[in-house]
Amino acid sequence: MPKTVALVVAAGRGHRAGGEIPKQYMPLAGQPLLRRTVAAFAGHGEIDAVRVVIHPDDRALYDEAVAGQTLLEPVAGGAERQDSVRHGLESLAEHEPDNVLIHDAARPFVSADLISRTLAALDHGPGAIAAVPVSDTLKRGDGLITGTVPRDGLWRAQTPQAFHYDAILAAHRDAAGLSLTDDAAVAERAGLAVALVPGGEDNFKVTTPEDLERAQRVLAEGTVMEARVGTGFDAHRFGAGEHVMLCGARIAHDRGLVGHSDADVGIHAIVDALLGAIGAGDIGDHFPPTDPRWAGADSMVFLAHARDLVERAGGVIGNVDVTLICERPRVGPHRAAMIACLAEVLEIAPDRVNVKATTTERLGFTGRGEGIAAQAVATVRIGR
Ligand code: MG
Repeated sequence: MPKTVALVVAAGRGHRAGGEIPKQYMPLAGQPLLRRTVAAFAGHGEIDAVRVVIHPDDRALYDEAVAGQTLLEPVAGGAERQDSVRHGLESLAEHEPDNVLIHDAARPFVSADLISRTLAALDHGPGAIAAVPVSDTLKRGDGLITGTVPRDGLWRAQTPQAFHYDAILAAHRDAAGLSLTDDAAVAERAGLAVALVPGGEDNFKVTTPEDLERAQRVLAEGTVMEARVGTGFDAHRFGAGEHVMLCGARIAHDRGLVGHSDADVGIHAIVDALLGAIGAGDIGDHFPPTDPRWAGADSMVFLAHARDLVERAGGVIGNVDVTLICERPRVGPHRAAMIACLAEVLEIAPDRVNVKATTTERLGFTGRGEGIAAQAVATVRIGR
């Protein structure tokens, strides 16, 4: 197998996209643009190593952007893009690659398939680039049209651009000091045959603020939100007392509920449902009844914790539905207060919270008035 290294060029200042920092470090749906680009190559089975060419001033931004990825040490670029690529190529000599893929950091949507097809073309020649046939009619002019340019056979060059390493290194050394806009031009100048590999419109370069917005839209559409469901059940027995806590509402009653915390059976069922939806165990795992910290605890603390765990898992709560099972006290008069309270702590709209109550027709422990039970269902949407 030939040894293949990807060289990602990220040394430009790229302020045309607006913003305080170079565009390759701008966040795109929560991740720096460079991280997405680099991951496309680092995660590709036919690529043995990835090196990024950076601007010396950007080292801290770079370290933060690629934290946790396995990459070769970055190298510093030069004044022009062509200088940056040449520095990068020179730095790879010790790795003795057979092939090198050169790619712009600002094209984060390069597909694994395009990388594979570009590399495959190197079996037949020393160079190959991703490119898109020109489909618009081309005009020459300056305010007024002075001519129409036949578009037959015209392509727009993209990256990746792949080459036999020794050939492109020699071509770059020979072209040092010129200002050619892509590596194919350097190869052409050296007389190397360069194949055109059909790229795609989705492999666009993020240059302007409009491009950045387009990139955000692409990512938003590409995120599949997976629906998860969790269920919860809980029961607490009656004991001495003069009120019960149910779904955050304090309800006067001739008995209380026995429990380590405030025994809010409704909230405990909801917490278990939320934990279930994100695969995070149950309420006892997070708040062991043996832990004195939770003695008499306000169950809203448990609910807030479950909400935070959902958020940390990248989830959004869809809805929560709880059924309280008891003969007494009557739940109806307190439903609105319960819903308001749950919605506030869960940070969701009240119409995403439902509280129901039922009796068991005097059957079973709830029917005999020995305690209160509750069951709950929660849905969570998680992006993946
Ligand atoms: Mg409980």
